[in-house]
Amino acid sequence: VIRLFNVSKRFGAKLALSNITLDIHKGEWLYVTGPSGAGKSTLLKLFYLGEKTTSGQVLAFGTNMNRLTAKEVPFLRRRFGIIFQDFKLIPNRNVFENVALVLEARGEPRNMIDKRTRNILRHAGMDKRMDAMPASLSGGEQQRVAVARAIAGQPDVILADEPTGSLDPKSAEIIIGLLAAYHEKGATVMVATHDRELLARKQGRIIRLEEGRLVAPEPVGGGRP
Ligand code: ATP
Ligand code: MG
Repeated sequence: VIRLFNVSKRFGAKLALSNITLDIHKGEWLYVTGPSGAGKSTLLKLFYLGEKTTSGQVLAFGTNMNRLTAKEVPFLRRRFGIIFQDFKLIPNRNVFENVALVLEARGEPRNMIDKRTRNILRHAGMDKRMDAMPASLSGGEQQRVAVARAIAGQPDVILADEPTGSLDPKSAEIIIGLLAAYHEKGATVMVATHDRELLARKQGRIIRLEEGRLVAPEPVGGGRP
């Protein structure tokens, strides 16, 4: 569904991504690992148009991301569900509204919005907190809402940037469960993380970035003898 060809991204003198060529297949679960500053977040940003490539091509669903027309941008964005390390919930909207707004933006009928929002918040273990404001929730609870919001939009691809970083184990468990269930339905999932426990929790292809370059990944859990 996504193809990168010779992609580089430069911030001033800093080369954040260097000649990345990568195919991401439909229905795949892909981990992007690597040390801090390796370019993981930058790679994910290319797909939701948070950043543009300096050179090279990104093709998503057959569309060249560098040559999108203004009309195409919102349609392409909708195909991606994005989960950030810092949640990015809307602070002055409650839990229910944070999820429902995504569906409202798509013009879904009211009864359908209510039903789907309640259902997904139940799976996220947040149905008893639907009236709560984000600031009153723990980090783990906020991230569960953020994941519910990303999935509610029924995107083709989920991009998750350190989705379980510094969260309590129970929330991390629920989040992986939500993502895994959505992946089962056929979605493509891309997770940037340096959490080795997360890699052990769910099988997937692992790619590793180091200083903006793709390098061969180490085997999971395989310590050196
Ligand atoms: P972490 O594990 O800490 O999240 P990362 O692998 O996600 O790291 P990136 O955030 O992609 O790394 O950053 C890659 C490099 O690009 C870093 O050297 C960073 O300082 C630089 N960089 C990222 N965004 C910008 C920006 N907007 N302006 C300038 N430099 C940037
Ligand atoms: Mg990052």
